[in-house]
Amino acid sequence: LGARLHGALSQLSKASVVDDKVIDALLKELCAALLESDVNVKLVSQLRTKVKTKVKKNLEEAEKTGGREANKKNVVQKAVFDELVALVDPGTEPYKPIKGKTNVLMAVGIQGAGKTTTCTKLAVHYQRRGLRTCLVCADTFRAGAFDQLKQNATKAKIPFYGSYTETDPVAIAALGVEKFRKERFDVIIVDTSGRHKQESELFEEMVAISAAVKPVRRPLGGRCSLQDMTIMVLDASIGQAAEAQSRAFKDSADFGAIIVTKLDGHAKGGGAISAVAATKTPIIFLGTGEHLNDLERFAPQPFISKLLGMGDMQGLVEHMQDMARANPERQKEMAKKLEQGKFSIRDWREQLGNIMGMGSLSKIASMIPGMPAGMLDGGEEEASAKLKRMIFITDAMRQDELDSDGLIFVSFDKSGNPTGLNRRAKRVARGSGTSVREVEELLAQARMMAGMARQAGGQNGLMSAMQKMQ
Ligand code: GDP
Ligand code: MG
Repeated sequence: LGARLHGALSQLSKASVVDDKVIDALLKELCAALLESDVNVKLVSQLRTKVKTKVKKNLEEAEKTGGREANKKNVVQKAVFDELVALVDPGTEPYKPIKGKTNVLMAVGIQGAGKTTTCTKLAVHYQRRGLRTCLVCADTFRAGAFDQLKQNATKAKIPFYGSYTETDPVAIAALGVEKFRKERFDVIIVDTSGRHKQESELFEEMVAISAAVKPVRRPLGGRCSLQDMTIMVLDASIGQAAEAQSRAFKDSADFGAIIVTKLDGHAKGGGAISAVAATKTPIIFLGTGEHLNDLERFAPQPFISKLLGMGDMQGLVEHMQDMARANPERQKEMAKKLEQGKFSIRDWREQLGNIMGMGSLSKIASMIPGMPAGMLDGGEEEASAKLKRMIFITDAMRQDELDSDGLIFVSFDKSGNPTGLNRRAKRVARGSGTSVREVEELLAQARMMAGMARQAGGQNGLMSAMQKMQ
């Protein structure tokens, strides 16, 4: 989806005049891209009408204020962006556990969707944020289910509960939750089975488990209900089937949040978009790999922004913070730099180096602005090659250039307006075997990181800002 949408939008930026023809062509390409990535047909046609109306209205307004073509392009791009965001934003607050209370989470979804893996990822996520977290295995249907959870939990050092002999999942869930509730755990995550001989049996079991572990009711986002803690785990690779499947689950085991898994690899995200629209339920996380760290917080704007190749700085910083949590020494260093609001090219180089060591490169690369979404289709190798080129660029810089904020590479005219990159930039491009354009990209990234650091540094530092986001 990303590559195709990105292509459509860059067609737009190449067009010299933005007229009906250009807009129609863009919409056509946009709809084709959405359909291709399994977004429901009805949704796509609704979206088309909405974008068209919005573009028309916004263009009229732009014209009134004497809008130039460049401005019109922004208007069109913004309309597309806003409507895509609206598609994945059901307008409700996403679920968030409260420290000091017992938060019971229950994962539902079909077998193989990624429930057991996601439960452990979630546990790690909350544990890192200072919540006492544990796991309960209420899957007695699948052979080896408890062993799998046990293995995951042990690896992540998360306390767990389960049984080899008890065959009633409802009894295990009730016992496990009761035990951990008494031990005052903050977050108790219940993993369930995903398959039965009859679908109705599965649904009955889920309802019974959810009734058995029913947590003390408490207000949550203005509402009082258990559904806010039942999470549907949805495999992105099931495509168009996502809509029907999520509806069926919603009708029986009402859930208040969705986690979409397997968004790495070749999965298309369109099914997930349809599921959100069909159930009016927010996605809270995305699963982006088999590793326990491969869990990303979902937010509509960065998700779409990334889809369109516009980057996700917030997500990038958050990911770095997350990695730093696992390494307190690095955390201190990074916190200091970011809190001072100082960010040089040397710092960005260090971050690029860290990113190289962070695992799934294509995933992280997609968060960096200016990394085209299409690049991700090339997978790990291409992402790694691209990151290496950025590091080569910094290797070709001199010490004073590394310690600068990047302005050193810019020429200015007499009245102080930037006129482009100077000879230093050309030297660096030559020396690193890259292009001036790539040097420019790197400088823009470092500038954006500096901007984020400054912004956050003003208010008690980035660290506490991130911690508040939890
Ligand atoms: P369950 O039957 O719903 O509990 O699913 P599991 O957690 O056992 O996962 C089924 C398979 O999907 C396992 O091989 C997991 O490693 C894999 N898996 C789960 N989540 C992801 C993900 O986000 N990305 C990828 N690539 N694989 C995943
Ligand atoms: Mg499982």
